Amino acid sequence: MMEEKLSKKHLEQLKQLCNEAGIKLTHQRLEIFCELIAHPGHPSAEMIHKRIHKKLPTIAIDTVYRTLATFDELGLIKKLHVMNERTLFDTNLDIHHHFICTRCKKVNDIYWSDFDNTTLPETIENMGKVESRHLEIHGICNSCLDKT
Ligand SMILES: [Zn+2]
Ligand SMILES: [Zn+2]
Repeated sequence: MMEEKLSKKHLEQLKQLCNEAGIKLTHQRLEIFCELIAHPGHPSAEMIHKRIHKKLPTIAIDTVYRTLATFDELGLIKKLHVMNERTLFDTNLDIHHHFICTRCKKVNDIYWSDFDNTTLPETIENMGKVESRHLEIHGICNSCLDKT
């Protein structure tokens, strides 16, 4: 049951954010939120749609996508644009970067505080005000390398 997976703290946070933003906490939104808490990572709207199909058989992929975009606006998850315009959503809100496997497309989190704190080259500083930095490293992950 969803109550087991969803902590009270998470639910309170969701309720409060929806309230402040003037958004109704619908059953669909709640189910999608529960799914994100139960399976953290880098899901796409398609993945979430597949997983919640049993609970919400009539939900459209567009609704899932829009709900995820709303959660992004509320700051509950982060929208990511990765290779080939694939849009994924990140449940990890800590500052981190990504290693993306070009074969299996798996996205792994990287923590690199030196990079986060380093002074950026002047050329970048001169382009405008930097608000955040996100590094995307592309390569072939170990499990794919093992298969070859
Ligand atoms: Zn791989
Ligand atoms: Zn991530």
